[in-house]
This record gives sequence, C-alpha cells and structure tokens, in this order.
Amino acid sequence: MSIRALITGGAGFIGSHLAEHLLSEGDDVTVLDNLSTGRFENIRQLVGKARFRYFIGPVEDERLFSEAADGSDVIFHLAAAVGVELIVRDPVGTIETNVVGAQGVLHHAVRYGKRVLVASTSEVYGKSMKVPFSEEDDVVYGPTSKARWSYAISKAVDEFLVRAYAKTRGLPGIVVRLFNTVGPRQVGHYGMVIPRFVTQALRGGPITVYGSGEQKRCFGHVLDVVPALRKLALLPSLDGQIVNVGNDVPISILELAEKVRAKIRPEAEIRFVPYEAAYGSGFEDMMTRQPCLDRVRSLIGYRPERDIDTILADVVEYIRLSESTDRT
Ligand code: UDP
Repeated sequence: MSIRALITGGAGFIGSHLAEHLLSEGDDVTVLDNLSTGRFENIRQLVGKARFRYFIGPVEDERLFSEAADGSDVIFHLAAAVGVELIVRDPVGTIETNVVGAQGVLHHAVRYGKRVLVASTSEVYGKSMKVPFSEEDDVVYGPTSKARWSYAISKAVDEFLVRAYAKTRGLPGIVVRLFNTVGPRQVGHYGMVIPRFVTQALRGGPITVYGSGEQKRCFGHVLDVVPALRKLALLPSLDGQIVNVGNDVPISILELAEKVRAKIRPEAEIRFVPYEAAYGSGFEDMMTRQPCLDRVRSLIGYRPERDIDTILADVVEYIRLSESTDRT
C-alpha cells in the first residue's frame, strides 16, 4: 500500500532519509522544513522527482502547514529542536517549537482524519538509572531551573498530547522514542557525538570526550530506523502507543573515541573535557541509555541490522566527502 506523506522536519537528518525511503516504497512525499537545523542540501537530490514536493517555513505557520498537509494521509512529525547544545543555548525556541508545533499538527490531523507519527526522544526517560529503558518505566527529571530538562519535558508534553488526542478525539497517532540515531548527513554542530568525533579526527584531533567517557550510548543507523517509522505509522490501529526505536548494543563514549581514532588517525589526542566546560555549570549527563526493544519487535518484527562499525564507516565516508567538497 502506498501512502501520501507529509514529513515535518523533512530536510533534517532523519527526515531526509525517511523521505528517500518513502519515495523508494512508491509513496508521495511532501517535506515541510524551516531549515533551522535541517539543510536544503539533504533534499536537493529529491527536488524535481515525481511524487516529491517541499515547502520551506515553520510548522507553527498554520496557513503554510495546511497547504503542505493538503492531500496527505499520514503525517510524520519530525520537526523539533534537537541536540543538547541547542537546547541549552535556546530554551525558548526549544519549548515553542516542540510544544506549539506538535499541538498544531495534532489539531490538524484530528480535524482531517489523518494518521500521525510523532518523533519523540530517549531524553524523555530523563536521568533514570534503570537499564534498559522500557516504555512504561518512570521518567526522572532534574529541576526546572536547569535548561537541559526543557527538552525532555517539552517532548513529554508532545507524548501526553498524542495520547490525549487519541483517547478523547479518536486521533490515529503513535509516538516513537528515538534513541541515538546516526548516519550520513548528521552534522556535529548541535552536539551529536559521532559526527563530532569523526570531524575532529579527520582534522588531526583532539577528540573531545566529555566527562570520564564512561557514559554509554546505543547508536542506531538511520537506515535501520526509517523503515521502522513507516511500518509503525501503517499499523492497523494507532491508539497513542509509545514505542522505543533504536539499537540496543551499548558502547562507552571513550571506547567510541578510541574506535574513531584507530580508524582515522591513530596518533590523535583524546582530550577529556569537563562537562561544565562543554555545557556550562550544573549539567547532568545520563550514564547509560539503552532501549528495551521488545515492544517494537512484537509490533513490527524490528531488528537493527547495522552495528557501530558499519555506522562509523558510513559516517566517515560521508564526512570525508563533504569536507573535500567544502574545500573545492
Ligand atoms: N559527547 C562527548 N564529546 C562531544 C560531544 C558529545 O563526549 O564532543 C558525549 C556527550 O556528553 C554524551 C554522549 O557523547 O555523553 C552522546 O552525546 P550526544 O549529544 O551525541 O547525544 P545524547 O545522548 O547526549 O543526546
């Protein structure tokens, strides 16, 4: 079955891969993106293709949004303020984009009877120490005086909104909690560790490990993630369920730095940077962030195929290519 999809945030890293995937499945795709963290470069190769169109502007612009959403039957709502650095730098923008944007999307979807998949984040689990994170686990946040939590809480509000609209207004909606998703096109400006490490190593170092480097993450390849988004949006019944998606194999950040160094520049320095110097005082990091994938496995038989070495190979190739193009 082919669909007519609107992807908000479709010029972003995940959104642009989703756009390509949907087109390859025979779907119609419209992208709406304000190019805040998304880049036109990410969708340039799609422009001019039959079944593809795009609009540049904010998802909060009701008129523009309605025009972009016109004719679609599924909305993938990926437009959001992303990355811890951005959140710490622009808390007002984060809250407004994440809450106001989602509210408008859901309102429209209910009114016109469209399906919605809202991208949420593993940040929603907050600083819970439980390993791994299951969808029904408690979430644990720090005080509201710390800007970092505005990201988690604004996305948690989105989740509540989806569930409320599903329960009381019959919205066919689903929430996907994305764990660290990486791959080609992700850029390091907003704090994402893999493109940062790769770029730093390619430039000769140092590779900056924040804190002790003992903190662990599970990195999922974007090409494993986007087919799952399509399958989840097409489940027979969407009732506001919340689903983890990602990879569940952890690696410490120091180990990751060592892998990147070994692969690119064995003589590069690994430099330990205190969290305060990286993110300002009072920053709290999560020690281990690992998803339980039972639910997504039972819903769509999801199983990530690409490991960290495949991810690094793909990212290195992409960044090498874009750095050499930048220089020409
Ligand atoms: N990190 C790091 N060096 C960097 C950027 C990030 O050591 O240059 C760490 C960061 O503190 C975190 C992990 O790498 O512990 C993953 O960071 P990222 O921003 O990619 O994602 P997060 O899981 O924090 O959302």
